[in-house]
Amino acid sequence: MAISEEEFLARLKPRRGQIKATITNQEFMAGIGNAYSDEILWAAGLHPHRRRATMDEDDLRRLYRSMRAVLEESITIVDATVQGEGLGKKEEWRQHLKVHRRAGEPCPKCGSEIRGQVRSGSETNYCLTCQPLFE
Ligand SMILES: [Zn+2]
Repeated sequence: MAISEEEFLARLKPRRGQIKATITNQEFMAGIGNAYSDEILWAAGLHPHRRRATMDEDDLRRLYRSMRAVLEESITIVDATVQGEGLGKKEEWRQHLKVHRRAGEPCPKCGSEIRGQVRSGSETNYCLTCQPLFE
């Protein structure tokens, strides 16, 4: 990931809208799709519909570190899968997602049911216990 923590914060600070929409906006930053944004926000404990304007600097730093961790883990898994045998790349990739497309399943952190919302064809998944929404 080429972007530094400070640059990430500098880019995010002027934004005020919903955090998922912000980080998946390819003008903001390329490469974070719908599935990964759910994973990153879950890891950071931030609700996808939380507005950036309600988040403080600690939230943003946690978000950056979660983003790095999720993307680095996914690169490792995809590399291992390409070299290994058995499962197809796509299948293996889906298996390592912890909340995306897992509505109704227990959250791996707290056991609460994972929620799902579909909007214009793409699904957003989150855990309300780990990712409370306060406006
Ligand atoms: Zn949870």
